Amino acid sequence: MCPSTPAANATVFLGMITAAGRVAYVTPALPAEVAVNAAMEAGAPVEARYRLAGPCVTSSCGFWTGEHCGLGERLVASYAQTAGEPEVDLPRCAIRRTCRWFAEQGPAACAACAHVVTDAR
Ligand code: SF4
Repeated sequence: MCPSTPAANATVFLGMITAAGRVAYVTPALPAEVAVNAAMEAGAPVEARYRLAGPCVTSSCGFWTGEHCGLGERLVASYAQTAGEPEVDLPRCAIRRTCRWFAEQGPAACAACAHVVTDAR
């Protein structure tokens, strides 16, 4: 699963962006439509308020390197530079068993993930 996908590809409502800019993960999993409908009612772009997950589209995504997700790799490297060692406690999230960032980057992905707001432009 891609843990930061636009609404058009989303199947899972992964979390909400808090006022502090952190992701509050939703467990157990809810369908993406719950977040999409809430954002429509509020008249806000869904990706600015919620994090959505969906199938990784590999070579159809600009972040795909040919072998792995370049975005997950970049986020972990950049988070490590600014925050040092990643937090040990993993957030409770609904997709860890199938998350591409976690599969490729390990627990460090989760520390960076909690600060990501999807840019759907
Ligand atoms: S990177 Fe970690 S916290 Fe984020 S969606 Fe994947 S498993 Fe969950």
